[in-house]
Amino acid sequence: MNRKDFIKSIAMIPFAGTALKLSALEQLTSNFETTELMPVLFVGHGSPMNAIEDNPFSLEMRAIGKKLPHPKAILMVSAHWETKGTMVTAVEKPETIHDFGGFPQALFDVQYPAPGSKWLAEETQKTITSTSVGLDYRWGLDHGCWSVTRNLFPKADVPIIQLSLDYTRDAQYHYDLAKQLYALRKKGVLIIGSGNMVHNFGYVALAPGHENDFNYPFGHAWALEANEIFKKAILTNDHKTLIAYKTHSRATQMAAPTPEHYLPLLYTMALKDAKDEVKFFNDAAVAGSFTMTSVMIGKI
Ligand code: ZN
Repeated sequence: MNRKDFIKSIAMIPFAGTALKLSALEQLTSNFETTELMPVLFVGHGSPMNAIEDNPFSLEMRAIGKKLPHPKAILMVSAHWETKGTMVTAVEKPETIHDFGGFPQALFDVQYPAPGSKWLAEETQKTITSTSVGLDYRWGLDHGCWSVTRNLFPKADVPIIQLSLDYTRDAQYHYDLAKQLYALRKKGVLIIGSGNMVHNFGYVALAPGHENDFNYPFGHAWALEANEIFKKAILTNDHKTLIAYKTHSRATQMAAPTPEHYLPLLYTMALKDAKDEVKFFNDAAVAGSFTMTSVMIGKI
């Protein structure tokens, strides 16, 4: 019996069916319900300007957002929050963090007032057993988070927590840790990894004739090659290749000279089960050395 049917059946009982009682009951049961398996996303966030521009990438994110089931809460693994040890944000009202420089004032003016979720922070703490997860009251929502969620959920009405990346750990550790989050997919939680599969600031090259457009599709040969290697590994459940990105090939090494934008992909892929469908969106290289390629896992 799903939650709606349960609520309906309770409503049939004499004296229990008032709107007031129903809503109180809904609140009581909402934290314990089992939902259909939620999808999981990896979103290439790219330029922070994607948060406020109407461009093919942001428009596609908005279209995907409209198709998603409405989550009870979001657990976000952003490239832009690295800590020693693993932390989750536990603040009630997370601040919108503008963790960048050199962008127009309009981007600094963005507020994304989604609430936090103490419930999900504590649930995540309980769910991860391989290490102790700390509750953090200082971090808010960084741009790796809100440049994505502002497009997916423009109303900012879904509670969000962020899970940090432990910068002292390797790819296998992150993959294994992520696997433990699977139970949250059955509790109405949408897990999103936000980074870029290919992200190398050392080789930025804007498309000839389109030097003012960071998002104009253009990729170095190695960036396109890495994109294809990652996509093939994703489609064939070859997670070993994904975990071994540092040694697999020159192309995959070049894709992620630092780990933080790549690791969120491992969080997403670790949560895929055999039956899950896989779809790509925003599959493009930009500025020579970045890809926006994003992945949807599960039924949408
Ligand atoms: Zn970033």
